[in-house]
Parts: sequence; C-alpha cells; structure tokens
Amino acid sequence: MKDTPHILCINPWIHDFAAYDFWSKPLGILTLASILRTHGCKVSYIDCLDRFHPRAPRIDPSMRSGRGPFLKMQITKPEGLNDVPRNFCRYGIKPSWLREDLVTLPQPDMILITALMTYWYPGLQETIQLIKDAFPKVPVVLGGIYATLCSEHAHRYSGADQVLSGPGEAVLFDLVADHTGWRVRPNFDPDDLDTYPYPAYDLQHGINYIPLLTSRGCPFSCAYCASHLLNPESRRRSPARVIEEIRFWHKKYAVRDFVFYDDALLMDAENHAIPLLEGIIQSELKIRFHTPNALHIRWITTKTARLMHRAGFETLRLGLETAGFDDRSKLDIKVTANEFQRAIACLKNAGFKKKQIGAYLLVGLPGQPTSSMALSIDIVKLSGITPVLAHYSPIPHTKLWSKAVACSRYDLASDPMFTNNAVFPCRKDPFSWETATYLKNLAAA
Ligand code: SF4
Repeated sequence: MKDTPHILCINPWIHDFAAYDFWSKPLGILTLASILRTHGCKVSYIDCLDRFHPRAPRIDPSMRSGRGPFLKMQITKPEGLNDVPRNFCRYGIKPSWLREDLVTLPQPDMILITALMTYWYPGLQETIQLIKDAFPKVPVVLGGIYATLCSEHAHRYSGADQVLSGPGEAVLFDLVADHTGWRVRPNFDPDDLDTYPYPAYDLQHGINYIPLLTSRGCPFSCAYCASHLLNPESRRRSPARVIEEIRFWHKKYAVRDFVFYDDALLMDAENHAIPLLEGIIQSELKIRFHTPNALHIRWITTKTARLMHRAGFETLRLGLETAGFDDRSKLDIKVTANEFQRAIACLKNAGFKKKQIGAYLLVGLPGQPTSSMALSIDIVKLSGITPVLAHYSPIPHTKLWSKAVACSRYDLASDPMFTNNAVFPCRKDPFSWETATYLKNLAAA
C-alpha cells in the first residue's frame, strides 16, 4: 500500500442497567488515534456514547463540570440476568445515527475499537455487528480493558478479527503494517510518556472536559483491583509537559474541567505532584480539577492538600474502600485509621468542604454483610466527609476473584456479563432493591 491508510477508531455502546458520564472518556483509543494522526494516517473517530452528537438534543458542555447522562434506549435484558428487576438499556447514540455515520465515511483500511468494563461486551458485540454490515472486508482490531482481562472470551465472542491484550502503543505500527501494508518509522518512544502526542480529544463533537493521565501504574496490589495487571510498569510524565497540555486545551478549546485518571497521582509527590501543582498555581489559569480515580489517602499531607486546594481541585475522591480498618489486610494495606483521619484533617484545614471530599466505599464484596457496609458508611459520615458507594465488580485474575466466584449466585467464570456491579454479583440471594436503596439512602442522609 502506497497511500497513508485511513484508520477508523470507535468507542462502542454500553449495554447495562445503569451508566452515566462521570468524566469517562476512552483515553486509550484517543491516544492511539493521536499517534496515528501525527504519523500521517487519516483518522476518523466515532463515539457511540457521544452526548454531543449533531443529532442529539443540545446541551451545555460545561454543565455539571462536564458530567451528564448518556442518551439511552431500553433493550431486552440478557437471558442470564432475568432475575434482576431493573430495566436494561443501550447507552449512547441511536443505531440509525451510527449506521448513517458509518456510510458517510470513506471506507477505512483498518478499524480500532475498545471496550472498558468487561461486562459491557454485549454493547461491543452489537457495535461490531453494525461495523461489519457497513464494512464487511475491513479488519476490526479490539483492544482495551475487556480485551486484556478477558482475552479468550473476546477472541471467541466479540466479533473482532484480532484481539490485542495490554497497551497498544508499542505494537500499533506493526498492526497497521500487518493489516494495510503501510510502514512508518515511529517518531515517539512507547516507553517515554513525554514523547506521546496529546490524546485526540479534538476528534470529538464537543470537549466537555479533559482527562489527564500523568502517570501509569500503582505500587499497591489490592485484592479487588486490576491496576497492576493493566499497567505492570510504573511510568510518568514530566510535570512541565502536563502543564503544557493543560494550557493547550484551556487556551485553544476553552476547557475548564480537567480530570486526573492516574491510579497514583500523589506517589512520590515531592518529585511529581508537588511540582505539577505548583506549576498549575503559577499558570493562574481559571480551571477546575477532579479526581474520580481516587487519591491515595496515605499520601495526602498538609502540603499536598494545600496545593490541591490552591490549584483549583474541586472534586476529591479518596480510595478508602472500607472503614473496617482492623479487618482489611486481606483486601489491601493502603491505609490505616490514623492515616484516614489525618488526611481528612489536612484537607479540611486546607479549605476543602464536606461535599467536595468523597470517600469511595466498596459495597457488595464477597461475604460482606449489609451491616458492615452500613457501618463503613456511618464511620465516613462521622468523620465529616461524604461516603460515595462503589459497587464491587469481580475482576478476573485479581486476588479476590476466586472468592467472588465462590460467593456468587451466577457462574462468573462462564460469562463476564455476570460480573456487572449493578446486580450485587457476589451475593447468593437475588438482587434486591431494598438493600440497594437502603445503602443509597444511608449514604445520602
Ligand atoms: S491503591 Fe488503588 S489503584 Fe492501586 S491497586 Fe489499590 S485500588 Fe488499585
């Protein structure tokens, strides 16, 4: 092939009982899109979750700091989940819009598609079916979290022609060469995050916020988390390069909300977060920051708390997971009761308000009684911050997986669909609105 290829990148639909845009963008595929573009490829992007699609009702991108509901349409519940008395929906744009968007594109030479949560694969399957109707001869390559954690399942059931496990940057141009015959010498180093171009957020119909990934990996290996599987090596960007990126999106696209996707933003703060926060403060940009991926409580100090406040951090989420401190060593070793109380004092002294500080609490862990979830909620409330419930989803290959399988009323290993966190998959008794509402009300009271 002589001409540079046309690569179509796609973020698929979500099929689920519930979904909401809590600052959630497919950063991985938008990074690949950007790398391809800077090497001369023609790149198109379709986001099936697009809240700003030209045919969608118009909304203000800055409303709720960029968050908001996806469009949705009720669809038939998968058979295996018939015991769950909740509506099941396709989240995202209408199928007719996707068909029209596909047929107006010139035929691509290769299609890259991603999928985030493992139990969202039915939405991926439906998206790939439509793609194949439009472009039956074009190879579809699947990457992302589902492809990495459930590689075998993805090979058998996704409908993709190729499934890629792990980060895609290092193999991207081999992939393009294999499928299109076009070769190029990479002008970036996959091991050096500072050599990457900024993700191609400008390919979206609207930029409501900018996700920032300043580092990859996490030094912990919590029993319920897949961070070490998805990013086995820790790497980070230079603070100066991150500040440059923030300035770029703010100046060129007037973006006000920035969202840290890091798993360990505050690790080794003296050499990373502190210079980064100081640089942001010096830039004097009128912007806001949010940390939906949670901050490590242990690393919140008087200094980091003050700097975060001065830099414009608006929404803080802390990775607490449980307030049962005496009984958590089988889950993780990342925080003690003293560290938790000390961190809250630092944040409050720095000027953060109760509603800005939320502590994630895992609910629905294997063997976790409702009373212990309620106790954790009470402890967080007593400490003067906001409990934020995070429904547990069992993840294959993590330490807690076998216990989750043993505790579930479903055959978790047979189908990732059963790991959906909306259905309390680690309980033997069927999903109960009573328990879900009780915990929700308790946290909100
Ligand atoms: S500290 Fe957070 S990111 Fe790191 S392994 Fe534990 S849950 Fe995952």
